[in-house]
Amino acid sequence: MIEPTLILIKPDGLKKSLTGNILTRLSETKLDIIGAKIVKVSRELAEKHYAGLKGKPFFEDLIKYLMGEYHKKKVMALVYWGEDAILKVRDICGKTNPEEADSVSIRGAYGRITTAGVYENVMHASADAADAEREIKLWFNPEEIIEAIYPVEEKEIEIIDKKWREEA
Ligand code: UDP
Ligand code: MG
Repeated sequence: MIEPTLILIKPDGLKKSLTGNILTRLSETKLDIIGAKIVKVSRELAEKHYAGLKGKPFFEDLIKYLMGEYHKKKVMALVYWGEDAILKVRDICGKTNPEEADSVSIRGAYGRITTAGVYENVMHASADAADAEREIKLWFNPEEIIEAIYPVEEKEIEIIDKKWREEA
């Protein structure tokens, strides 16, 4: 099935300058990149992203990790799209626990477990189609993605938008 999936290069990946390496590894999948941006992650976004893990002993550390408290305050968010995208990306990403992950997978090659027990595994990849949809809609607006992956609706809203200031 042709489907989208969300990828995050987590703050440890950015701090360790792994962006290029991770994108190169991901290009082995031959999938299309249809959205990409750098995000400064708020607590609200981090908690929504990991809502399913609320109550776990590592939850607070995980939130701080995604917010960049331990590395750099940024995440690279990407949407990849193509045949079996979710499985292909999860495969190359490797297991959640970087010590159990295949050493040729991205997490196996670059991840570590902190003394506090958090898996700093350099990237996130959606686990299934329902997660992908929830996560993509959380991280991206429709106009930031170059394919029509989910139905959209036009809504009239009042917004104050920031624009570049025109110099006199
Ligand atoms: N995590 C952790 N310890 C655990 C399980 C998960 O630190 O025992 C962290 C890890 O960074 C992982 C994230 O929580 O990537 C989300 O966990 P999930 O079980 O959804 O794994 P994933 O889908 O990322 O492989
Ligand atoms: Mg998960």
